Amino acid sequence: MRTVLYPGTFDPITYGHIDIVKRACELFDKIIVTIAVNPSKHPLFTLEERLYLIKESLSEFPNITVDSFDGLVVDYAKKAGASGIIRGLRAVSDFEYEFQMALMNRKLAENIATIFLMPHEKYTYLNSSIIRDLAQFGSDIGDFVPKVVQDAMKKKFAK
Ligand code: ADP
Repeated sequence: MRTVLYPGTFDPITYGHIDIVKRACELFDKIIVTIAVNPSKHPLFTLEERLYLIKESLSEFPNITVDSFDGLVVDYAKKAGASGIIRGLRAVSDFEYEFQMALMNRKLAENIATIFLMPHEKYTYLNSSIIRDLAQFGSDIGDFVPKVVQDAMKKKFAK
Protein backbone atom coordinates (compact mmCIF):
# COMPACT_ATOMS: atom_id res chain seq x y z
CA MET A 1 0.00 0.00 0.00
CA ARG A 2 1.49 3.30 -1.14
CA THR A 3 0.84 6.22 1.15
CA VAL A 4 1.95 9.77 0.33
CA LEU A 5 1.74 13.09 2.12
CA TYR A 6 0.47 16.24 0.49
CA PRO A 7 1.70 18.99 2.83
CA GLY A 8 0.87 22.67 2.53
CA THR A 9 -0.57 25.75 4.18
CA PHE A 10 -3.97 25.53 2.44
CA ASP A 11 -4.98 29.06 3.45
CA PRO A 12 -7.47 28.32 1.93
CA ILE A 13 -7.69 25.20 -0.23
CA THR A 14 -8.31 26.04 -3.93
CA TYR A 15 -9.23 24.13 -7.07
CA GLY A 16 -5.48 24.07 -7.83
CA HIS A 17 -4.81 22.00 -4.69
CA ILE A 18 -7.81 19.81 -5.45
CA ASP A 19 -6.56 19.19 -8.99
CA ILE A 20 -3.26 17.93 -7.54
CA VAL A 21 -5.09 15.69 -5.05
CA LYS A 22 -7.14 14.20 -7.89
CA ARG A 23 -4.00 13.34 -9.84
CA ALA A 24 -2.30 11.88 -6.74
CA CYS A 25 -5.35 9.70 -6.06
CA GLU A 26 -4.88 8.00 -9.41
CA LEU A 27 -1.30 7.10 -8.57
CA PHE A 28 -1.33 6.20 -4.88
CA ASP A 29 -3.47 4.19 -2.47
CA LYS A 30 -3.71 6.72 0.29
CA ILE A 31 -3.12 10.48 0.41
CA ILE A 32 -2.64 12.30 3.69
CA VAL A 33 -3.41 15.95 3.09
CA THR A 34 -1.65 17.63 5.94
CA ILE A 35 -1.43 21.22 7.09
CA ALA A 36 2.07 22.31 7.98
CA VAL A 37 1.77 24.36 11.16
CA ASN A 38 4.32 27.10 10.61
CA PRO A 39 4.67 29.44 13.59
CA SER A 40 6.21 32.18 11.44
CA LYS A 41 3.19 32.36 9.12
CA HIS A 42 0.02 34.18 10.12
CA PRO A 43 -2.73 32.47 8.19
CA LEU A 44 -6.11 34.04 7.54
CA PHE A 45 -7.92 30.86 8.55
CA THR A 46 -7.23 29.06 11.83
CA LEU A 47 -5.95 25.51 11.75
CA GLU A 48 -9.40 24.19 12.66
CA GLU A 49 -11.05 26.23 9.90
CA ARG A 50 -8.55 25.01 7.31
CA LEU A 51 -8.99 21.38 8.40
CA TYR A 52 -12.75 21.75 8.06
CA LEU A 53 -12.52 23.40 4.62
CA ILE A 54 -10.15 20.71 3.31
CA LYS A 55 -12.33 17.88 4.65
CA GLU A 56 -15.47 19.36 3.12
CA SER A 57 -13.76 20.08 -0.21
CA LEU A 58 -12.33 16.57 -0.50
CA SER A 59 -15.28 14.59 0.85
CA GLU A 60 -15.86 12.89 -2.53
CA PHE A 61 -12.44 11.19 -2.42
CA PRO A 62 -12.43 7.88 -0.54
CA ASN A 63 -8.72 7.39 0.04
CA ILE A 64 -7.87 10.63 1.79
CA THR A 65 -7.21 11.62 5.36
CA VAL A 66 -6.74 15.18 6.54
CA ASP A 67 -4.61 16.26 9.48
CA SER A 68 -1.81 18.60 10.52
CA PHE A 69 1.75 18.41 11.76
CA ASP A 70 4.47 20.63 13.08
CA GLY A 71 8.18 20.04 12.69
CA LEU A 72 9.90 18.55 9.69
CA VAL A 73 7.82 17.09 6.91
CA VAL A 74 10.17 14.10 6.50
CA ASP A 75 9.77 13.22 10.19
CA TYR A 76 6.03 13.31 9.79
CA ALA A 77 6.25 11.21 6.60
CA LYS A 78 8.22 8.51 8.44
CA LYS A 79 5.81 8.53 11.36
CA ALA A 80 2.82 8.25 9.03
CA GLY A 81 4.42 5.44 7.01
CA ALA A 82 4.43 7.54 3.84
CA SER A 83 6.91 6.80 1.08
CA GLY A 84 6.60 10.13 -0.68
CA ILE A 85 5.73 13.81 -0.53
CA ILE A 86 3.51 15.34 -3.19
CA ARG A 87 4.06 18.95 -4.27
CA GLY A 88 2.42 20.97 -7.02
CA LEU A 89 4.48 22.73 -9.67
CA ARG A 90 2.75 25.58 -11.40
CA ALA A 91 5.48 27.56 -13.09
CA VAL A 92 9.21 28.00 -13.28
CA SER A 93 8.88 30.42 -10.38
CA ASP A 94 7.93 27.50 -8.09
CA PHE A 95 10.91 25.48 -9.19
CA GLU A 96 13.85 26.93 -7.32
CA TYR A 97 12.28 26.79 -3.87
CA GLU A 98 10.73 23.37 -4.47
CA PHE A 99 13.99 21.96 -5.85
CA GLN A 100 15.90 23.19 -2.81
CA MET A 101 13.36 21.70 -0.42
CA ALA A 102 13.18 18.39 -2.27
CA LEU A 103 16.96 17.97 -2.20
CA MET A 104 17.20 18.94 1.46
CA ASN A 105 14.43 16.49 2.33
CA ARG A 106 16.21 13.76 0.38
CA LYS A 107 19.38 14.52 2.31
CA LEU A 108 17.41 14.19 5.55
CA ALA A 109 15.53 11.05 4.54
CA GLU A 110 16.87 9.25 1.52
CA ASN A 111 13.96 6.86 1.11
CA ILE A 112 11.25 9.53 1.02
CA ALA A 113 10.73 10.74 -2.53
CA THR A 114 9.30 14.10 -3.55
CA ILE A 115 6.82 13.77 -6.40
CA PHE A 116 5.88 16.84 -8.42
CA LEU A 117 2.54 16.99 -10.16
CA MET A 118 1.36 19.71 -12.52
CA PRO A 119 -2.18 21.00 -12.37
CA HIS A 120 -4.38 21.72 -15.34
CA GLU A 121 -3.13 24.89 -17.10
CA LYS A 122 -6.19 26.78 -15.99
CA TYR A 123 -4.96 26.59 -12.39
CA THR A 124 -1.34 27.53 -12.98
CA TYR A 125 -1.85 31.17 -12.04
CA LEU A 126 -3.86 30.34 -8.94
CA ASN A 127 -2.60 30.56 -5.40
CA SER A 128 -4.17 31.03 -1.99
CA SER A 129 -2.81 34.51 -1.53
CA ILE A 130 -4.46 35.81 -4.73
CA ILE A 131 -7.72 34.28 -3.54
CA ARG A 132 -7.42 36.06 -0.20
CA ASP A 133 -6.81 39.37 -1.97
CA LEU A 134 -9.73 38.91 -4.36
CA ALA A 135 -12.10 37.91 -1.57
CA GLN A 136 -11.06 40.79 0.61
CA PHE A 137 -12.11 43.23 -2.09
CA GLY A 138 -15.38 41.46 -2.77
CA SER A 139 -14.47 39.77 -6.08
CA ASP A 140 -16.26 36.63 -7.16
CA ILE A 141 -13.98 33.66 -6.41
CA GLY A 142 -16.46 30.98 -7.48
CA ASP A 143 -14.25 29.79 -10.37
CA PHE A 144 -11.31 29.15 -8.06
CA VAL A 145 -12.56 27.61 -4.81
CA PRO A 146 -15.40 25.30 -3.71
CA LYS A 147 -18.63 26.80 -2.39
CA VAL A 148 -17.76 25.98 1.22
CA VAL A 149 -14.54 28.05 0.92
CA GLN A 150 -16.39 30.87 -0.81
CA ASP A 151 -18.89 31.02 2.05
CA ALA A 152 -16.13 30.90 4.68
CA MET A 153 -14.36 33.78 2.93
CA LYS A 154 -17.52 35.88 2.84
CA LYS A 155 -18.01 35.30 6.55
CA LYS A 156 -14.40 36.10 7.35
CA PHE A 157 -14.44 39.44 5.52
CA ALA A 158 -17.93 40.42 6.65
CA LYS A 159 -16.55 40.76 10.18
P1 ADP B 1 3.05 25.98 0.96
O1 ADP B 1 3.14 27.08 1.98
O2 ADP B 1 3.60 24.67 1.44
O3 ADP B 1 3.55 26.35 -0.40
P2 ADP B 1 0.41 26.00 -0.26
O4 ADP B 1 -0.90 25.65 0.34
O5 ADP B 1 0.56 27.35 -0.85
O6 ADP B 1 1.48 25.72 0.86
O7 ADP B 1 0.77 24.93 -1.38
C1 ADP B 1 0.85 23.57 -1.08
C2 ADP B 1 1.27 22.82 -2.34
O8 ADP B 1 0.25 22.95 -3.32
C3 ADP B 1 2.54 23.36 -2.99
O9 ADP B 1 3.26 22.27 -3.53
C4 ADP B 1 2.03 24.26 -4.07
O10 ADP B 1 2.95 24.35 -5.15
C5 ADP B 1 0.79 23.52 -4.49
N1 ADP B 1 -0.20 24.42 -5.09
C6 ADP B 1 -0.73 25.55 -4.59
N2 ADP B 1 -1.57 26.13 -5.45
C7 ADP B 1 -1.58 25.34 -6.55
C8 ADP B 1 -2.21 25.39 -7.82
N3 ADP B 1 -3.01 26.40 -8.19
N4 ADP B 1 -1.96 24.39 -8.69
C9 ADP B 1 -1.12 23.40 -8.36
N5 ADP B 1 -0.48 23.28 -7.21
C10 ADP B 1 -0.69 24.24 -6.30
